[in-house]
Amino acid sequence: MLTLDRLSKIYANGTQALSDVTMGVAPGEIVALVGGSGCGKTTLLRLASGLEQASGGRVAVDGDIISAPHPDVGIVFQEPRLLPWLTVAQNIAFGVEHLPKAERDARVDEALLRVGLAGYGPRWPRELSGGQAQRVAIVRALVARPKVLLMDEPFSALDALTRASLQDHLLALWEAHRPTLLLVTHDVEEAAALADRAIVMQPRPGRVFKDIPIDLPRPRDRLSHDFAEAKRAILAALDGSLGNPHSSPRRISVPSGASW
Ligand code: ADP
Repeated sequence: MLTLDRLSKIYANGTQALSDVTMGVAPGEIVALVGGSGCGKTTLLRLASGLEQASGGRVAVDGDIISAPHPDVGIVFQEPRLLPWLTVAQNIAFGVEHLPKAERDARVDEALLRVGLAGYGPRWPRELSGGQAQRVAIVRALVARPKVLLMDEPFSALDALTRASLQDHLLALWEAHRPTLLLVTHDVEEAAALADRAIVMQPRPGRVFKDIPIDLPRPRDRLSHDFAEAKRAILAALDGSLGNPHSSPRRISVPSGASW
């Protein structure tokens, strides 16, 4: 269980990025953090990963306080950040070098198979497309089997079709060991496609505005009425978080894959 308890962050220049954020993410749950620019999403993720220190409150995983990078918490950034001098397999195995070679190789092969990259182990990062490289980055974060995976807009640099396919690959990987997933996204479609809950944040200072359950079975039908309703609920909350409670219907009918 990932718990954020009365978390706050004031940067050295006096900016209050987060104020009193409390939330829990259950084991195996997928939560999407959505909100306008500057509402503290990235700050929240950096605090949860131990890369940044909180000014108040605490982050814990199963009761262990997270105040520095921790093996139970993996993180995936917007760009893949693969090491160019290592092959795909070596990049992935980097964080599990303590495992016996046979176990390490088996985990790498199994994970590559799940994301449609069987046989890509000996390739170099420069030989991969953007979508393939990001799949490798996700595999690398999950191969150590962290309890929690944090993702900061992991698909935002990709085109809409690649993004949808990577969301499916992410779910295929998540299925294997069901880590807790906390994902920052500005894409309402992505939140509805992946998450059990969308937490909408509000800026100045960053805080939770609304917690929206997305109670749809998986695999999700992106063309269904219920899916459209889930997107509509998130969009309406986003509008509310920016002080526009009377959002227009035109604003609500986003095309598939559109970003907010
Ligand atoms: P989001 O990810 O939702 O866009 P951020 O967490 O990046 O929000 O930023 C929240 C607020 O904190 C913004 O006002 C931003 O300008 C400020 N901020 C972020 N990082 C720093 C920093 N290192 N120093 C000072 N202010 C920062």
